[in-house]
Amino acid sequence: NTSGLTLLGLGAMGTALAQAWLTAGHRLTVWNRTPGRAEALAGRGARIAGSAAEAVAANRLVVTCLLDDASVGEALDGADLTGKDLVNLTTGTPGQGRARAAWAAERGARFLDGGVMAVPPMIGAPESGAFIFYSGSRDLLDEHRDTLAVPARPVHVGEDAGYAALQDVALLSAMTGMFAGVTHAFALLRREKDISPKEFAPTLVAWLTAMTSYTYGIADHLESGDYTRNVTSNLAMMVEGNATMLRTAEEQGISAELITPFTTLMERRLADGHGDEGTAGVVDLLLR
Ligand code: NDP
Repeated sequence: NTSGLTLLGLGAMGTALAQAWLTAGHRLTVWNRTPGRAEALAGRGARIAGSAAEAVAANRLVVTCLLDDASVGEALDGADLTGKDLVNLTTGTPGQGRARAAWAAERGARFLDGGVMAVPPMIGAPESGAFIFYSGSRDLLDEHRDTLAVPARPVHVGEDAGYAALQDVALLSAMTGMFAGVTHAFALLRREKDISPKEFAPTLVAWLTAMTSYTYGIADHLESGDYTRNVTSNLAMMVEGNATMLRTAEEQGISAELITPFTTLMERRLADGHGDEGTAGVVDLLLR
């Protein structure tokens, strides 16, 4: 006795979403620009719509999972959105999320923007840790919570439709920095015949895991405005450590280009007289 919904977009992520809803017993209407991709799902009970407009007409709840924001506008161009609950699981920027919310409101639809924090195999598998940031209409989420919780745990982060995209991108940006560090670490060891990357990996993972809680200290500094409280590793010490890191890169004959942007900013903050702080002050250096 589960409710029906429409899904537009059957790429890698859309197909994983569709499979999760079908497995959970939801009545699903699907549409994909290239029709062939929907056929495999028909065998599993999905209804295939001939056009995006027809798919939208089939259900109140309409989910889009397309390549980018422009493709959402294109796909929904001729559809009647009056009275619809539109959930956009297409990755975009905060600005695109807000503009899409205004666009949906003009067309008489409630709107929720989503940022999927998972890769397709994690969808529909609660133990994977997958979740989806949502922002925009909380009422929409509350009304369709059972359905929207099927692919991954919903996390509502605000009525501002831009917040899901903003937090999604913040997580991806943090991950980018983390993997820049991982890449540099492997490069340091790359020419050493007696150090195996596979044997080193568990040590690296354990170290990164232990260090992630440092994030709470930065958050506390930013919220309190006191960038020095409970500092165990101060900036003056860290900048000394950076010199050792850079010199080691030199000795190993590898480029330090992945780490110098951060070390340079730390030096600037130190030069401004903040040697007793942690690294929270670097956040302020980035505000343009
Ligand atoms: P794919 O490239 O596998 O699929 C893209 C989908 O968009 C296809 O269904 C494609 O249709 C459709 N599409 C592209 N352009 C248009 C258009 N102009 N009009 C209509 N449909 C169009 O991407 P994914 O499924 O992997 O990703 C979909 C969204 O999910 C993206 O925003 C992505 O960032 C997000 N996401 C993906 C993750 C992943 O790991 N895959 C992780 C988290 C988020 P067609 O078949 O006709 O080409």
